[in-house]
Amino acid sequence: MSFLKISHIAIAVENLEVARKAFETLTGNKIAVVEEVPDQRVRVGMLPIGESRLELAGPTDPSSTIAKFIEKRGEGIHHICFEVEDIRAELVRLKNEGFQLIDEQPRLGADGHLIAFIHPRTTGGVLVELSEKLK
Ligand code: ZN
Repeated sequence: MSFLKISHIAIAVENLEVARKAFETLTGNKIAVVEEVPDQRVRVGMLPIGESRLELAGPTDPSSTIAKFIEKRGEGIHHICFEVEDIRAELVRLKNEGFQLIDEQPRLGADGHLIAFIHPRTTGGVLVELSEKLK
């Protein structure tokens, strides 16, 4: 049982097109598709960096959690996502270790992954996402 790699680092941005241009120029890599996630009121672009990705997330509506995050803390790193072997086992282990889970049970995320979030209160102020690729 272990953490396998950094799946992605998510960055909250006010304007996805502006940020996309900046990060594509910065890295020389390209975002293939920009996806809208209607229930979270965000648009998301994944920029591949080797085995990992940068996830640029911009709000489509002021009520979105990303908009509220930016309002409170400004643009910047929103969460770090680790790919794990067995997300259910990790959630049990982390709960026993005293971490505050936002999701007690994993839920279905994008792209055939189960995901769950750990509260930043117990992880040095950083929102942590766990992700397990479904086989
Ligand atoms: Zn994420």
